[in-house]
Amino acid sequence: ASTWANVKMGPPDPILGVTEAFKADSNPKKMNLGVGAYRDDAGKPYVLSCVRKAEQIMADKHLDKEYLGITGLPEFTKAAARLAYGDESEVLGEKRVAITQSISGTGALRIGGEFLNRWYPHAKRIYLPTPSWGNHTPIFRDSGLEVHGYRYFDKSTNGLDIEGLLADLKAAPERSIILLHACAHNPTGVDPTPEQWKAIHEAIDGKGHYAFFDMAYQGFASGDPQKDAFALRHFASEGSIAGEGRLCLAQSFAKNIGLYGERVGTFSIVGADAEEAKRVESQLKILVRPMYSNPPMNGARIVSTVLNTPELHAEWRDEVKLMADRIISMRAALQNHLVHDFNSKLNWEHITSQIGMFCYTGLKPEEVDRLKSEFAVYLTRDGRISIAGISSGNVKYLAEAMHKVTK
Ligand code: PLP
Repeated sequence: ASTWANVKMGPPDPILGVTEAFKADSNPKKMNLGVGAYRDDAGKPYVLSCVRKAEQIMADKHLDKEYLGITGLPEFTKAAARLAYGDESEVLGEKRVAITQSISGTGALRIGGEFLNRWYPHAKRIYLPTPSWGNHTPIFRDSGLEVHGYRYFDKSTNGLDIEGLLADLKAAPERSIILLHACAHNPTGVDPTPEQWKAIHEAIDGKGHYAFFDMAYQGFASGDPQKDAFALRHFASEGSIAGEGRLCLAQSFAKNIGLYGERVGTFSIVGADAEEAKRVESQLKILVRPMYSNPPMNGARIVSTVLNTPELHAEWRDEVKLMADRIISMRAALQNHLVHDFNSKLNWEHITSQIGMFCYTGLKPEEVDRLKSEFAVYLTRDGRISIAGISSGNVKYLAEAMHKVTK
């Protein structure tokens, strides 16, 4: 028998499975609302103009291809940290942040999981919002952490279950690790308000919990990267959390600079002081070295060129706003068609109150199946749609299809 005769066939990835089925459909009206990547109003992948310009600048410099250091390109990680924590950030000013470049957000989460597994001095228990991005559970489980959930989404309102959330954070054993989506929660599109973030901060602080931020959509939610960083910056500046080294961040540039396949991000840990950050950084290097030695350079060079060149940085701010605004306008159009053109009697308020790339529609699995079989509209069975997959040319068709399967 073969060595691998005992290897079982695994299930396909639920999201990539949607794309497979979409590709095989010959209906000209078909829509793929499964994939979490931005599309322009013609439904095409979009490369930002600031990125094209940065690539030109890089090409003109005839840069070499030598290895980066273990923690990546310093001009990149510095600019990335400033973007996340803010130009005025105290923790950055005091050099309390240990940071490493990562293989996008996924790699950052994995480095974080591995670091916590190796060094977190308390029970290695992480709490994820229910629901959360589908990859969080396997990432943290494979990192050796024990994965639990806290209440997040309220099905009856399609909004935030703030009471359940706070109750669960308070009921979790002291010094648990709490995973927080910094903005544009995936898959629900439901974010806490600034007031609710303050209450979440207090609940976490009060129990001595550790805050692990996942920021995959900075700028993509509201159109303003400063506004979208509110939660992280609040945690970094208020109370004892940052002072006691109870904060870390996984940051991705896949969505907000449209660099999906470049795989560029960072992982950072806030320490109590500069000396502690140095010790942590030394251990991040020891963790990364045997995994992949050092990160790829191209995406980091692009982000560094965009963020560190004032004209390109300004252009990026305009372009990220343009992407966010298109998404916001598609939400409004979808809701408008449902309510006014098709007179749906259901409540569709949440389509516009939710934020970011995704909308948790509240569609039931059987309704999702009908969308697929009768209308060639593809989405995951949890009813999540990627708003980025909607355009002005097909939003009415989608509204009609959604109305027909829900009336
Ligand atoms: N975290 C969340 C919440 C996400 O939605 C995603 C991507 O969909 C990621 C992290 C990581 O994405 P990437 O590894 O492409 O940066």
